[in-house]
Amino acid sequence: MTSPTRVLVLNSGSSSLKYQLLDMRHDRRLAVGLVERIGEQTSRLEHTCVTSGDTREQDGPIADHDAALKAVAEELSRDGVGLDSPDLAAIGHRVVHGGMFFTEPTVIDDAVLTEIERLIPVAPLHNPANLTGIRTARSLRPDLPQVAVFDTAFHTTMPESAARYALDPRIADRYRIRRYGFHGTSHAYVSRETARLLGRDPADVNVIVLHLGNGASASAVRGGRCVDTSMGLTPLEGLVMGTRSGDLDPAVIFHLERVGGMSMDEIDTLLNKRSGLFGLCGDNDMREIRRRIDEGDEAAALAFDIYIHRLRKYIGAYCAVLGRVDAVAFTAGVGENAAAVREAAIAGLESMGLAVDAGLNAVRSREARLISPASARVAVAVVPTDEELEIATQTYALVGTGGKEELGNTSE
Ligand code: ADP
Repeated sequence: MTSPTRVLVLNSGSSSLKYQLLDMRHDRRLAVGLVERIGEQTSRLEHTCVTSGDTREQDGPIADHDAALKAVAEELSRDGVGLDSPDLAAIGHRVVHGGMFFTEPTVIDDAVLTEIERLIPVAPLHNPANLTGIRTARSLRPDLPQVAVFDTAFHTTMPESAARYALDPRIADRYRIRRYGFHGTSHAYVSRETARLLGRDPADVNVIVLHLGNGASASAVRGGRCVDTSMGLTPLEGLVMGTRSGDLDPAVIFHLERVGGMSMDEIDTLLNKRSGLFGLCGDNDMREIRRRIDEGDEAAALAFDIYIHRLRKYIGAYCAVLGRVDAVAFTAGVGENAAAVREAAIAGLESMGLAVDAGLNAVRSREARLISPASARVAVAVVPTDEELEIATQTYALVGTGGKEELGNTSE
């Protein structure tokens, strides 16, 4: 009998469930989908069978994650790739916070669940939703290996000099305060794909990865290992994001409380949900901001400038952290699509070996590609991220039987 080769990837948010079913041996995506607004009257399931190209939508209340996963299971069954299939090797779960404990993808048992639960205080928004997804999937297929792939894991290689804040270690350790970093699955995948694009071994390549989505983070990757990243204890630190402020003087928080009379919850909401590009100009979508700039909107232009200024600071900082930089890679919604952001981020950095070719930068493509001139000392690349493929790859590497030899060849 041949060994099972499919992996279902689940990414459970507080009110959503994203999923993909991949066939790891044949390097194929079989199904992708999303359940939104779980727990509301207006829930919606959108399911695409990749092999046939059919998309089915389902509107109407889906009470909880249990019901959502059951609805997904039904859709998969209709395509002949149900959860009961003997071809399913494992379920891979995205888990946002793995703390210091989880440095690698991990097969989930009760002890692992307890540890993910213990991390809720440092990831109150994300880990509870991830746990719900895991519990639901385990109840549907208790016999199947379930693997947790942590957003923080790739960053656990950061040296203490980068991971620690300048705080009394007794206080920091007591409250587990340190820089964990996030988007690690994407940083791992993109740094490796960048090396592949250069035709080099990841172990020999130093890359600055700029993951610019609605959330945004930068990382410095030396020889395949993360040595610094811009997000910290939570995803609030670092770059200017869609709705998050990124770096600011912590005294801003005291000031807002003492002088502004705001509560801690109000400040939390302000900095996480009403700041960044949205706070600056009322829009968090880079397409809309560029459109407004073209029409002469000054608030949008200033928001863009602040975004770019912060991004350039991190590029400069990570050049210094790495010493030698082989490539800068742009990824995620903004990084993959916004040529104006890439151009502005790299403009005038020729003395650091960085340049963008205007013609190459203007090309729109889903493929990984170089956008620097052939003469540039440092490669600048656009490398589409694929977190689901990375989660599936890591899951399959852990539990797949007889499939490991294929793992070097999973790019699309
Ligand atoms: P996340 O996963 O963090 O929600 P994504 O990586 O999907 O985010 O990125 C979403 C963002 O990408 C949008 O908010 C928008 O700003 C940006 N984006 C998407 N398409 C384009 C485009 N064609 N041009 C500029 N920005 C874009």
